[in-house]
Amino acid sequence: MSQGLVTMSYIAASILFILSLGGLSNPETARRGNLYGMIGMGIAVFATIMSDTVDSYVILIIALLIGGTIGSKAAKMVEMTQMPELVAIMHSLVGMAAVLVGYANFIDPTATLTGVEKTIHEVEIYLGILIGAVTFTGSVVAFGKLSGRIGGTPVLLPGRHWLNLGLLVASIWLCMQFIESAETGGGTWALILMTLIAFAFGVHMVMAIGGADMPVVVSMLNSYSGWAAAATGFMLNNDLLIVTGALVGSSGAILSYIMCRAMNRNFISVIAGGFGTGTGGGGEAAVVEGEVSPIEAAETAQLLLDAKNIVIIPGYGMAVAQAQHTVNEITKLLRSKGKNVSFGIHPVAGRMPGHMNVLLAEAKVPYDIVFEMDEINDDFPNVDVSIVIGANDIVNPSALDDPNSPIAGMPVLECWKGETTIVLKRSMASGYAGVGNPLFVHENTRMLFGDANDSMQEVLKILNS
Ligand code: NDP
Repeated sequence: MSQGLVTMSYIAASILFILSLGGLSNPETARRGNLYGMIGMGIAVFATIMSDTVDSYVILIIALLIGGTIGSKAAKMVEMTQMPELVAIMHSLVGMAAVLVGYANFIDPTATLTGVEKTIHEVEIYLGILIGAVTFTGSVVAFGKLSGRIGGTPVLLPGRHWLNLGLLVASIWLCMQFIESAETGGGTWALILMTLIAFAFGVHMVMAIGGADMPVVVSMLNSYSGWAAAATGFMLNNDLLIVTGALVGSSGAILSYIMCRAMNRNFISVIAGGFGTGTGGGGEAAVVEGEVSPIEAAETAQLLLDAKNIVIIPGYGMAVAQAQHTVNEITKLLRSKGKNVSFGIHPVAGRMPGHMNVLLAEAKVPYDIVFEMDEINDDFPNVDVSIVIGANDIVNPSALDDPNSPIAGMPVLECWKGETTIVLKRSMASGYAGVGNPLFVHENTRMLFGDANDSMQEVLKILNS
Protein backbone atom coordinates (compact mmCIF):
# COMPACT_ATOMS: atom_id res chain seq x y z
CA MET A 1 0.00 0.00 0.00
CA SER A 2 1.39 3.44 -0.93
CA GLN A 3 2.32 5.87 1.84
CA GLY A 4 -0.40 8.28 0.63
CA LEU A 5 -3.07 5.62 1.00
CA VAL A 6 -1.79 4.69 4.46
CA THR A 7 -1.95 8.35 5.53
CA MET A 8 -5.49 8.67 4.16
CA SER A 9 -6.55 5.53 6.01
CA TYR A 10 -5.02 6.90 9.21
CA ILE A 11 -6.93 10.18 8.81
CA ALA A 12 -10.17 8.25 8.21
CA ALA A 13 -9.51 6.09 11.30
CA SER A 14 -8.76 9.19 13.43
CA ILE A 15 -12.05 10.81 12.34
CA LEU A 16 -13.94 7.60 13.14
CA PHE A 17 -12.32 7.49 16.60
CA ILE A 18 -13.40 11.07 17.29
CA LEU A 19 -16.95 10.27 16.09
CA SER A 20 -16.84 7.18 18.30
CA LEU A 21 -15.98 9.24 21.39
CA GLY A 22 -18.77 11.68 20.51
CA GLY A 23 -21.24 8.80 20.18
CA LEU A 24 -20.20 7.22 23.46
CA SER A 25 -21.08 10.36 25.39
CA ASN A 26 -24.79 9.54 25.19
CA PRO A 27 -26.55 6.19 25.79
CA GLU A 28 -28.79 6.75 22.77
CA THR A 29 -25.85 7.06 20.37
CA ALA A 30 -23.44 4.73 22.20
CA ARG A 31 -24.11 1.75 19.93
CA ARG A 32 -23.29 3.85 16.86
CA GLY A 33 -20.21 5.21 18.67
CA ASN A 34 -18.98 1.66 19.26
CA LEU A 35 -19.52 0.79 15.61
CA TYR A 36 -17.47 3.81 14.47
CA GLY A 37 -14.70 2.75 16.86
CA MET A 38 -14.67 -0.80 15.52
CA ILE A 39 -14.59 0.29 11.88
CA GLY A 40 -11.84 2.83 12.68
CA MET A 41 -9.76 0.17 14.42
CA GLY A 42 -10.30 -2.27 11.53
CA ILE A 43 -9.05 0.35 9.04
CA ALA A 44 -6.11 1.23 11.32
CA VAL A 45 -4.95 -2.39 11.71
CA PHE A 46 -5.39 -3.14 8.00
CA ALA A 47 -3.54 -0.01 6.84
CA THR A 48 -0.69 -0.65 9.30
CA ILE A 49 -0.30 -4.25 8.15
CA MET A 50 -0.30 -3.16 4.53
CA SER A 51 2.19 -0.34 5.06
CA ASP A 52 5.88 -0.53 4.07
CA THR A 53 7.00 -0.67 7.71
CA VAL A 54 5.72 -4.24 8.08
CA ASP A 55 7.61 -7.11 6.47
CA SER A 56 7.47 -10.02 8.96
CA TYR A 57 3.96 -11.21 8.16
CA VAL A 58 4.32 -14.67 9.71
CA ILE A 59 5.11 -13.30 13.18
CA LEU A 60 2.36 -10.71 12.78
CA ILE A 61 -0.31 -13.22 11.82
CA ILE A 62 0.67 -15.59 14.64
CA ALA A 63 0.52 -12.66 17.13
CA LEU A 64 -2.85 -11.51 15.73
CA LEU A 65 -4.25 -15.02 16.04
CA ILE A 66 -3.01 -15.48 19.60
CA GLY A 67 -4.14 -12.00 20.72
CA GLY A 68 -7.46 -12.23 18.88
CA THR A 69 -8.26 -15.65 20.34
CA ILE A 70 -7.43 -14.60 23.91
CA GLY A 71 -9.38 -11.35 23.48
CA SER A 72 -12.53 -12.92 22.06
CA LYS A 73 -12.47 -15.77 24.62
CA ALA A 74 -12.07 -13.25 27.49
CA ALA A 75 -14.90 -11.10 26.12
CA LYS A 76 -17.23 -14.11 25.90
CA MET A 77 -16.31 -15.50 29.32
CA VAL A 78 -16.39 -12.32 31.32
CA GLU A 79 -19.52 -11.51 33.33
CA MET A 80 -20.93 -7.98 33.30
CA THR A 81 -19.85 -7.64 36.96
CA GLN A 82 -16.25 -8.49 35.99
CA MET A 83 -16.08 -5.81 33.28
CA PRO A 84 -14.23 -3.23 35.42
CA GLU A 85 -11.51 -5.77 36.26
CA LEU A 86 -11.20 -6.70 32.59
CA VAL A 87 -10.78 -3.03 31.68
CA ALA A 88 -8.10 -2.64 34.37
CA ILE A 89 -6.13 -5.67 33.17
CA MET A 90 -6.40 -4.45 29.56
CA HIS A 91 -4.84 -1.14 30.63
CA SER A 92 -1.96 -3.10 32.13
CA LEU A 93 -1.33 -4.74 28.73
CA VAL A 94 -1.08 -1.31 27.05
CA GLY A 95 1.43 -0.30 29.75
CA MET A 96 3.52 -3.43 29.28
CA ALA A 97 3.44 -2.99 25.48
CA ALA A 98 4.87 0.52 25.89
CA VAL A 99 7.67 -0.84 28.13
CA LEU A 100 8.56 -3.61 25.67
CA VAL A 101 8.46 -1.32 22.62
CA GLY A 102 10.67 1.13 24.55
CA TYR A 103 13.32 -1.51 25.27
CA ALA A 104 13.10 -2.88 21.71
CA ASN A 105 13.72 0.65 20.38
CA PHE A 106 16.60 1.16 22.78
CA ILE A 107 18.45 -1.98 21.68
CA ASP A 108 17.48 -1.67 18.01
CA PRO A 109 20.77 -2.25 16.13
CA THR A 110 19.42 -0.64 12.93
CA ALA A 111 18.81 2.77 14.55
CA THR A 112 20.65 5.48 12.63
CA LEU A 113 19.57 8.70 14.39
CA THR A 114 22.23 11.23 15.42
CA GLY A 115 22.46 14.54 17.27
CA VAL A 116 19.27 16.23 18.49
CA GLU A 117 17.06 13.65 16.79
CA LYS A 118 18.79 10.88 18.76
CA THR A 119 18.33 12.78 22.03
CA ILE A 120 14.63 13.37 21.30
CA HIS A 121 14.23 9.69 20.51
CA GLU A 122 15.93 8.78 23.81
CA VAL A 123 13.54 11.04 25.73
CA GLU A 124 10.62 9.36 23.95
CA ILE A 125 11.97 5.94 24.93
CA TYR A 126 12.50 7.04 28.54
CA LEU A 127 9.03 8.59 28.90
CA GLY A 128 7.32 5.70 27.11
CA ILE A 129 8.87 3.15 29.45
CA LEU A 130 8.21 5.34 32.53
CA ILE A 131 4.50 5.88 31.79
CA GLY A 132 4.09 2.29 30.59
CA ALA A 133 5.66 0.80 33.72
CA VAL A 134 3.52 2.93 36.10
CA THR A 135 0.42 2.00 34.07
CA PHE A 136 1.34 -1.68 34.14
CA THR A 137 1.78 -2.22 37.88
CA GLY A 138 -0.90 0.36 38.79
CA SER A 139 -3.43 -1.46 36.61
CA VAL A 140 -2.46 -4.87 37.97
CA VAL A 141 -3.07 -3.62 41.54
CA ALA A 142 -6.35 -1.96 40.44
CA PHE A 143 -7.37 -5.29 38.88
CA GLY A 144 -6.59 -7.01 42.20
CA LYS A 145 -8.60 -4.45 44.16
CA LEU A 146 -11.61 -4.48 41.84
CA SER A 147 -11.74 -8.27 41.75
CA GLY A 148 -11.39 -8.53 45.53
CA ARG A 149 -8.04 -10.36 45.30
CA ILE A 150 -6.42 -7.42 47.11
CA GLY A 151 -8.26 -5.82 50.06
CA GLY A 152 -9.84 -2.40 49.49
CA THR A 153 -8.22 -0.91 52.62
CA PRO A 154 -5.57 1.64 51.64
CA VAL A 155 -1.98 0.72 52.47
CA LEU A 156 -0.40 3.89 53.77
CA LEU A 157 3.37 3.76 54.25
CA PRO A 158 4.83 6.29 56.70
CA GLY A 159 6.09 9.39 54.87
CA ARG A 160 4.44 8.21 51.65
CA HIS A 161 4.33 11.69 50.10
CA TRP A 162 8.08 12.08 50.64
CA LEU A 163 8.60 8.65 49.17
CA ASN A 164 6.63 9.64 46.05
CA LEU A 165 8.61 12.87 45.79
CA GLY A 166 11.88 10.93 46.17
CA LEU A 167 10.87 8.53 43.38
CA LEU A 168 10.00 11.48 41.12
CA VAL A 169 13.32 13.23 41.75
CA ALA A 170 15.20 9.93 41.19
CA SER A 171 13.37 9.45 37.87
CA ILE A 172 14.35 12.93 36.66
CA TRP A 173 17.98 12.40 37.68
CA LEU A 174 18.05 8.98 35.99
CA CYS A 175 16.64 10.56 32.82
CA MET A 176 19.60 12.94 32.68
CA GLN A 177 22.02 10.08 33.34
CA PHE A 178 20.37 7.98 30.65
CA ILE A 179 20.60 10.65 27.97
CA GLU A 180 24.21 11.40 28.89
CA SER A 181 25.30 7.73 28.87
CA ALA A 182 23.24 6.86 25.78
CA GLU A 183 25.47 9.27 23.77
CA THR A 184 28.29 6.77 24.19
CA GLY A 185 26.17 3.66 23.76
CA GLY A 186 25.44 3.15 27.48
CA GLY A 187 22.47 4.01 29.68
CA THR A 188 21.08 0.51 30.17
CA TRP A 189 21.51 0.65 33.95
CA ALA A 190 19.66 3.99 34.21
CA LEU A 191 16.79 2.65 32.10
CA ILE A 192 16.48 -0.55 34.14
CA LEU A 193 16.66 1.32 37.46
CA MET A 194 13.99 3.80 36.30
CA THR A 195 11.76 0.91 35.18
CA LEU A 196 12.01 -0.69 38.63
CA ILE A 197 11.22 2.66 40.28
CA ALA A 198 8.22 3.18 37.99
CA PHE A 199 6.96 -0.35 38.74
CA ALA A 200 7.24 0.39 42.47
CA PHE A 201 5.54 3.78 42.06
CA GLY A 202 2.57 2.20 40.24
CA VAL A 203 2.06 -0.30 43.07
CA HIS A 204 2.48 2.31 45.80
CA MET A 205 0.15 4.83 44.16
CA VAL A 206 -2.80 2.47 43.75
CA MET A 207 -2.28 0.55 47.02
CA ALA A 208 -2.61 3.86 48.90
CA ILE A 209 -6.03 4.59 47.43
CA GLY A 210 -9.02 3.23 49.24
CA GLY A 211 -12.55 3.93 50.26
CA ALA A 212 -14.70 5.10 47.42
CA ASP A 213 -11.89 6.70 45.42
CA MET A 214 -11.18 3.74 43.11
CA PRO A 215 -13.34 5.13 40.25
CA VAL A 216 -10.90 8.02 39.88
CA VAL A 217 -7.98 5.61 39.76
CA VAL A 218 -9.63 3.47 37.09
CA SER A 219 -10.25 6.46 34.83
CA MET A 220 -6.79 7.84 35.61
CA LEU A 221 -5.15 4.55 34.57
CA ASN A 222 -7.27 4.70 31.44
CA SER A 223 -5.73 8.09 30.76
CA TYR A 224 -2.19 6.79 31.50
CA SER A 225 -2.67 3.89 29.10
CA GLY A 226 -3.55 6.46 26.41
CA TRP A 227 -0.40 8.49 27.06
CA ALA A 228 1.64 5.26 27.08
CA ALA A 229 0.20 4.44 23.64
CA ALA A 230 0.97 7.99 22.42
CA ALA A 231 4.56 7.63 23.64
CA THR A 232 4.78 4.32 21.76
CA GLY A 233 3.50 6.16 18.68
CA PHE A 234 6.37 8.66 18.97
CA MET A 235 8.90 5.82 19.34
CA LEU A 236 7.53 3.97 16.33
CA ASN A 237 6.95 7.12 14.32
CA ASN A 238 3.30 6.15 13.89
CA ASP A 239 1.01 9.19 13.64
CA LEU A 240 -2.20 7.24 14.17
CA LEU A 241 -0.93 5.75 17.42
CA ILE A 242 -0.01 9.25 18.62
CA VAL A 243 -3.48 10.61 17.77
CA THR A 244 -5.31 7.61 19.24
CA GLY A 245 -3.17 7.63 22.39
CA ALA A 246 -3.77 11.35 22.85
CA LEU A 247 -7.53 10.85 22.42
CA VAL A 248 -7.60 8.10 25.06
CA GLY A 249 -5.22 10.02 27.32
CA SER A 250 -7.17 13.26 27.24
CA SER A 251 -10.64 11.68 27.42
CA GLY A 252 -9.45 9.59 30.41
CA ALA A 253 -8.09 12.74 32.07
CA ILE A 254 -11.41 14.56 31.49
CA LEU A 255 -13.31 11.58 32.90
CA SER A 256 -11.05 11.56 36.00
CA TYR A 257 -11.78 15.25 36.48
CA ILE A 258 -15.54 14.68 36.11
CA MET A 259 -15.36 11.78 38.60
CA CYS A 260 -13.44 13.94 41.08
CA ARG A 261 -15.96 16.74 40.75
CA ALA A 262 -18.85 14.30 41.18
CA MET A 263 -17.24 12.95 44.34
CA ASN A 264 -16.18 16.35 45.62
CA ARG A 265 -12.55 15.25 45.62
CA ASN A 266 -9.33 17.00 44.77
CA PHE A 267 -7.63 15.10 41.94
CA ILE A 268 -4.11 15.56 43.27
CA SER A 269 -5.17 14.45 46.75
CA VAL A 270 -6.78 11.30 45.38
CA ILE A 271 -3.73 10.20 43.40
CA ALA A 272 -1.48 11.08 46.31
CA GLY A 273 -3.54 8.60 48.32
CA GLY A 274 -4.98 10.99 50.89
CA PHE A 275 -8.68 10.24 50.75
CA GLY A 276 -10.74 7.19 51.51
CA THR A 277 -8.86 6.84 54.73
CA GLY A 278 -10.99 8.66 57.25
CA THR A 279 -9.20 11.91 56.61
CA GLY A 280 -12.24 14.11 57.34
CA GLY A 281 -11.68 15.24 60.89
CA GLY A 282 -9.00 12.71 61.63
CA GLY A 283 -11.24 10.85 64.10
CA GLU A 284 -13.16 7.58 64.03
CA ALA A 285 -16.21 7.27 61.77
CA ALA A 286 -19.47 7.01 63.75
CA VAL A 287 -20.78 3.49 64.43
CA VAL A 288 -24.26 2.87 63.03
CA GLU A 289 -26.78 1.95 65.72
CA GLY A 290 -30.54 1.55 65.59
CA GLU A 291 -33.46 -0.72 64.76
CA VAL A 292 -33.74 -2.28 61.32
CA SER A 293 -37.27 -2.44 59.96
CA PRO A 294 -37.64 -5.35 57.49
CA ILE A 295 -40.37 -5.55 54.86
CA GLU A 296 -41.78 -8.40 52.72
CA ALA A 297 -42.46 -8.42 48.97
CA ALA A 298 -46.26 -8.20 49.42
CA GLU A 299 -46.06 -5.00 51.49
CA THR A 300 -43.50 -3.57 49.05
CA ALA A 301 -45.90 -4.19 46.16
CA GLN A 302 -48.72 -2.50 48.09
CA LEU A 303 -46.56 0.56 48.87
CA LEU A 304 -45.75 0.84 45.16
CA LEU A 305 -49.42 0.59 44.22
CA ASP A 306 -50.28 3.33 46.72
CA ALA A 307 -47.47 5.61 45.55
CA LYS A 308 -47.62 8.29 42.86
CA ASN A 309 -43.96 9.30 42.55
CA ILE A 310 -41.42 6.47 42.60
CA VAL A 311 -37.65 6.70 42.23
CA ILE A 312 -35.48 3.64 41.57
CA ILE A 313 -31.83 3.88 42.65
CA PRO A 314 -29.69 1.10 41.19
CA GLY A 315 -26.26 0.18 42.53
CA TYR A 316 -23.61 -2.49 42.20
CA GLY A 317 -25.95 -5.15 43.68
CA MET A 318 -28.31 -4.75 40.71
CA ALA A 319 -25.41 -5.73 38.44
CA VAL A 320 -24.56 -8.72 40.67
CA ALA A 321 -28.18 -9.90 40.77
CA GLN A 322 -28.72 -9.07 37.07
CA ALA A 323 -32.02 -7.59 38.19
CA GLN A 324 -32.26 -4.94 35.45
CA HIS A 325 -34.74 -6.87 33.29
CA THR A 326 -37.13 -7.52 36.18
CA VAL A 327 -36.74 -3.87 37.22
CA ASN A 328 -37.72 -2.84 33.70
CA GLU A 329 -40.81 -5.12 33.81
CA ILE A 330 -41.90 -3.56 37.12
CA THR A 331 -41.25 -0.07 35.72
CA LYS A 332 -43.42 -0.77 32.65
CA LEU A 333 -46.21 -2.14 34.83
CA LEU A 334 -46.17 0.78 37.27
CA ARG A 335 -46.09 3.33 34.45
CA SER A 336 -49.05 1.61 32.80
CA LYS A 337 -50.89 2.19 36.07
CA GLY A 338 -50.17 5.93 35.83
CA LYS A 339 -47.26 6.14 38.31
CA ASN A 340 -44.34 8.52 37.76
CA VAL A 341 -41.30 6.26 37.79
CA SER A 342 -37.79 7.71 37.45
CA PHE A 343 -34.29 6.35 37.89
CA GLY A 344 -31.62 8.21 39.89
CA ILE A 345 -28.06 7.44 38.78
CA HIS A 346 -25.06 8.30 40.92
CA PRO A 347 -21.88 9.04 38.91
CA VAL A 348 -19.92 6.29 40.71
CA ALA A 349 -22.68 3.71 41.10
CA GLY A 350 -21.48 0.19 40.31
CA ARG A 351 -17.87 -0.52 39.49
CA MET A 352 -17.16 1.47 36.35
CA PRO A 353 -18.21 4.82 34.89
CA GLY A 354 -21.62 4.50 33.25
CA HIS A 355 -22.13 0.97 34.70
CA MET A 356 -25.79 1.53 35.59
CA ASN A 357 -26.62 3.31 32.31
CA VAL A 358 -25.26 0.31 30.40
CA LEU A 359 -27.40 -2.14 32.42
CA LEU A 360 -30.55 -0.04 32.09
CA ALA A 361 -29.97 0.44 28.35
CA GLU A 362 -29.49 -3.34 28.01
CA ALA A 363 -32.87 -3.88 29.71
CA LYS A 364 -34.40 -1.22 27.42
CA VAL A 365 -35.42 1.20 30.16
CA PRO A 366 -36.46 4.42 28.34
CA TYR A 367 -33.67 7.03 28.50
CA ASP A 368 -36.02 9.90 29.28
CA ILE A 369 -36.82 8.53 32.76
CA VAL A 370 -33.17 8.03 33.71
CA PHE A 371 -31.73 11.04 35.57
CA GLU A 372 -28.30 12.02 36.87
CA MET A 373 -27.94 12.56 40.61
CA ASP A 374 -27.86 16.36 40.28
CA GLU A 375 -31.04 16.34 38.22
CA ILE A 376 -33.07 14.33 40.72
CA ASN A 377 -31.69 15.09 44.19
CA ASP A 378 -33.97 18.09 44.81
CA ASP A 379 -37.09 16.01 43.98
CA PHE A 380 -36.83 13.55 46.88
CA PRO A 381 -39.08 15.51 49.30
CA ASN A 382 -41.91 14.86 46.78
CA VAL A 383 -41.10 11.17 46.31
CA ASP A 384 -43.48 8.61 47.86
CA VAL A 385 -41.31 5.52 47.50
CA SER A 386 -37.61 5.19 46.64
CA ILE A 387 -36.38 1.68 45.85
CA VAL A 388 -32.66 1.22 46.39
CA ILE A 389 -31.58 -1.85 44.44
CA GLY A 390 -28.25 -3.20 45.67
CA ALA A 391 -26.82 0.27 46.30
CA ASN A 392 -25.06 1.28 49.49
CA ASP A 393 -22.26 3.90 49.42
CA ILE A 394 -24.12 6.12 46.96
CA VAL A 395 -27.07 6.52 49.37
CA ASN A 396 -25.05 6.81 52.57
CA PRO A 397 -26.12 9.93 54.55
CA SER A 398 -22.92 9.82 56.62
CA ALA A 399 -21.10 11.17 53.53
CA LEU A 400 -22.94 14.43 54.24
CA ASP A 401 -23.16 14.53 58.04
CA ASP A 402 -20.19 12.57 59.46
CA PRO A 403 -16.96 14.50 58.81
CA ASN A 404 -14.94 11.47 59.96
CA SER A 405 -16.50 9.10 57.46
CA PRO A 406 -14.07 7.82 54.78
CA ILE A 407 -16.57 9.03 52.18
CA ALA A 408 -17.17 12.42 53.86
CA GLY A 409 -17.89 15.14 51.30
CA MET A 410 -19.05 12.79 48.53
CA PRO A 411 -22.48 13.90 47.24
CA VAL A 412 -25.06 11.09 47.53
CA LEU A 413 -28.65 10.44 46.43
CA GLU A 414 -30.68 11.86 49.32
CA CYS A 415 -33.53 9.34 49.19
CA TRP A 416 -34.19 9.54 52.96
CA LYS A 417 -35.86 12.91 52.30
CA GLY A 418 -38.73 11.05 50.60
CA GLU A 419 -41.65 9.41 52.38
CA THR A 420 -40.45 5.79 52.34
CA THR A 421 -37.22 4.16 51.20
CA ILE A 422 -37.07 0.44 50.50
CA VAL A 423 -33.55 -1.01 50.37
CA LEU A 424 -33.00 -4.32 48.59
CA LYS A 425 -29.88 -6.19 49.67
CA ARG A 426 -28.96 -9.56 51.08
CA SER A 427 -27.57 -8.58 54.48
CA MET A 428 -26.41 -5.61 56.53
CA ALA A 429 -22.94 -5.86 54.93
CA SER A 430 -21.20 -2.62 53.97
CA GLY A 431 -20.52 -1.53 50.37
CA TYR A 432 -17.26 -0.98 48.49
CA ALA A 433 -16.00 1.75 50.82
CA GLY A 434 -16.44 -0.55 53.82
CA VAL A 435 -18.43 1.92 55.94
CA GLY A 436 -21.65 1.48 57.90
CA ASN A 437 -24.79 3.07 56.45
CA PRO A 438 -27.23 4.92 58.78
CA LEU A 439 -29.85 4.88 55.98
CA PHE A 440 -30.61 1.24 56.84
CA VAL A 441 -31.77 2.23 60.33
CA HIS A 442 -33.43 5.49 59.31
CA GLU A 443 -37.02 5.86 60.58
CA ASN A 444 -38.58 5.79 57.10
CA THR A 445 -36.38 3.03 55.66
CA ARG A 446 -37.57 -0.56 55.20
CA MET A 447 -35.18 -3.37 54.33
CA LEU A 448 -36.21 -6.02 51.79
CA PHE A 449 -33.58 -8.71 52.37
CA GLY A 450 -32.57 -11.20 49.68
CA ASP A 451 -31.07 -11.33 46.21
CA ALA A 452 -32.32 -8.22 44.38
CA ASN A 453 -33.56 -10.18 41.35
CA ASP A 454 -35.44 -12.75 43.48
CA SER A 455 -37.05 -9.94 45.53
CA MET A 456 -38.02 -7.97 42.42
CA GLN A 457 -39.44 -11.14 40.77
CA GLU A 458 -41.61 -11.73 43.82
CA VAL A 459 -42.83 -8.12 43.82
CA LEU A 460 -43.57 -8.38 40.08
CA LYS A 461 -45.58 -11.58 40.61
CA ILE A 462 -47.71 -9.88 43.26
CA LEU A 463 -48.17 -6.75 41.15
CA ASN A 464 -49.31 -8.93 38.25
CA SER A 465 -51.73 -11.02 40.33
P1 NDP B 1 -21.71 -0.61 46.97
O1 NDP B 1 -20.52 -1.45 46.66
O2 NDP B 1 -21.55 0.51 47.91
O3 NDP B 1 -22.89 -1.53 47.53
C1 NDP B 1 -23.39 -2.59 46.80
C2 NDP B 1 -24.37 -3.33 47.69
O4 NDP B 1 -25.01 -4.29 46.87
C3 NDP B 1 -23.68 -4.11 48.80
O5 NDP B 1 -23.86 -3.47 50.03
C4 NDP B 1 -24.33 -5.49 48.75
O6 NDP B 1 -24.93 -5.79 50.01
C5 NDP B 1 -25.41 -5.35 47.69
N1 NDP B 1 -25.50 -6.55 46.86
C6 NDP B 1 -24.52 -7.27 46.30
N2 NDP B 1 -25.01 -8.32 45.64
C7 NDP B 1 -26.36 -8.24 45.74
C8 NDP B 1 -27.43 -9.03 45.27
N3 NDP B 1 -27.21 -10.13 44.52
N4 NDP B 1 -28.69 -8.67 45.58
C9 NDP B 1 -28.93 -7.58 46.35
N5 NDP B 1 -27.94 -6.79 46.83
C10 NDP B 1 -26.67 -7.12 46.52
O7 NDP B 1 -22.26 -0.12 45.56
P2 NDP B 1 -22.78 1.32 45.11
O8 NDP B 1 -23.18 1.14 43.68
O9 NDP B 1 -23.73 1.87 46.09
O10 NDP B 1 -21.49 2.23 45.17
C11 NDP B 1 -20.38 2.00 44.31
C12 NDP B 1 -19.10 1.94 45.12
O11 NDP B 1 -18.07 1.36 44.31
C13 NDP B 1 -18.65 3.32 45.53
O12 NDP B 1 -17.99 3.25 46.76
C14 NDP B 1 -17.67 3.66 44.41
O13 NDP B 1 -16.73 4.63 44.76
C15 NDP B 1 -17.01 2.30 44.20
N6 NDP B 1 -16.40 2.14 42.88
C16 NDP B 1 -17.04 2.63 41.77
C17 NDP B 1 -16.44 2.55 40.54
C18 NDP B 1 -17.09 3.20 39.36
O14 NDP B 1 -16.39 3.56 38.42
N7 NDP B 1 -18.40 3.33 39.35
C19 NDP B 1 -15.12 1.86 40.35
C20 NDP B 1 -14.58 1.30 41.58
C21 NDP B 1 -15.21 1.45 42.79
P3 NDP B 1 -25.17 -7.31 50.47
O15 NDP B 1 -23.86 -8.00 50.37
O16 NDP B 1 -25.71 -7.18 51.84
O17 NDP B 1 -26.18 -7.89 49.51
